[in-house]
Amino acid sequence: MLDKVVIANRGEIALRILRACRELGIKTVAVHSEADSSLKHVLLADESVCIGPAASSASYLNIPVLIAAAEVTDAVAIHPGYGFLSENADFAEQVEKSGYIFIGPRADTIRIMGDKVAAIRAMKEAGVPCVPGSDGPLGDDEKLNLEMGRKIGYPIIIKAAAGGGGRGMRVVHAEANLLNAISLTRTEARGAFGDDTVYMEKYLEKPRHVEFQVMADGEGAAIHLGERDCSMQRRHQKVVEEAPAPGITLEQRLEIGERCAEACRRIRYRGAGTFEFLYENGEFYFIEMNTRVQVEHPVTELVTGIDIVKEQLCIAAGMGLSFRQEEITWRGHAIECRINAEDPKTFLPSPGTITQYHAPGGPGVRVDTHIYNGYTVPPYYDSMIAKLITHGDTRASALARMRGALAEIVIDGIRTNIALHQDICSDAAFMAGGTDIHYLEKKLGL
Ligand code: ADP
Repeated sequence: MLDKVVIANRGEIALRILRACRELGIKTVAVHSEADSSLKHVLLADESVCIGPAASSASYLNIPVLIAAAEVTDAVAIHPGYGFLSENADFAEQVEKSGYIFIGPRADTIRIMGDKVAAIRAMKEAGVPCVPGSDGPLGDDEKLNLEMGRKIGYPIIIKAAAGGGGRGMRVVHAEANLLNAISLTRTEARGAFGDDTVYMEKYLEKPRHVEFQVMADGEGAAIHLGERDCSMQRRHQKVVEEAPAPGITLEQRLEIGERCAEACRRIRYRGAGTFEFLYENGEFYFIEMNTRVQVEHPVTELVTGIDIVKEQLCIAAGMGLSFRQEEITWRGHAIECRINAEDPKTFLPSPGTITQYHAPGGPGVRVDTHIYNGYTVPPYYDSMIAKLITHGDTRASALARMRGALAEIVIDGIRTNIALHQDICSDAAFMAGGTDIHYLEKKLGL
């Protein structure tokens, strides 16, 4: 097993990683900015290192300082969590070049998956179903681009190959706007990502977001842990997630899951990963792969009984996968609500001191959070402060437990989106299951 791991992240995921390390007898090093010295995992870690000022660019995104933290503490590996540097190929490369284990895929894999055009090409070759599209970057030939648009059929979406976080995309409803949209997206992409490569895809009008969790050993073995539905989104940000996805049959799960696992075997993928699909009219369309642990991993953990973060650590230690595909089963249903420090109406961040925190509990209730009474949510980072996750034998019982937990949880002193979650969890369409990715924004009147 690994001897000592640097946790290159903050908040709930840093605490989640610390807990997994402790279970495996791995020593932990917390790194934190000057604004984060009172984070729960910093107080619990075996060692901690202050890596710089509050601004992420000077701390959690500062590659040399993170590697220095591993050096001064004699750690052997770095876990990047999600966000920050978790999908930065240069970081993975420099970690490994400096002699440490990067807990994630190889740098070249991250690089390919970070280029959406290259990722789609690789997935197509592996038999993963993709959105009908340009099958590569768009050139400058206007006639060819117009022809391609006609062939795919409107509406169309123009996307930046280097895009991320829902940026660098533009929907085109009619041919008259196509060329202008291509050049606008190019200009934007050049400014935002330093790369003006764009491609074209059919725009799906009412899809759901369904994603598959995979785990692979880096030597050609890979399994899938089934799917999650993350269609409840606002501005491309997931708000509620669940597993399994309502209405997806076991046959569909096994078929698409196996194609994802097969793609991982072909590229000798290492670690945890997620294949994101849009799902419409019974068909799956691959849109991108995330090469890290996801925020919503707990719903998969609750239905499969597998600890995804412990698996990541075991794979990084060279122990391979602990499970064969035949051993994976899915039991019951799990739902996760992302609790944010934000105004429930305006969605503006609401940092500040938590004067009262009461955790909910009872059968099938899990809370992944770093908050405690008296903790001050700093204004510098993502506003997610807790993940409330419930499990039940059926979707209805998981939802009933969620409503109960939402009624029980108390977070005072700051504003949160708990009321929004209460509203969603008693919404008739959501309770029926299978709402599309535009449902929440429409419900909110956006
Ligand atoms: P990012 O890396 O920025 O998250 P994605 O490729 O995952 O970009 O797309 C983000 C979101 O944009 C999707 O979850 C979906 O809501 C929307 N989207 C992307 N491609 C399409 C498409 N072909 N049709 C409809 N919506 C799309």
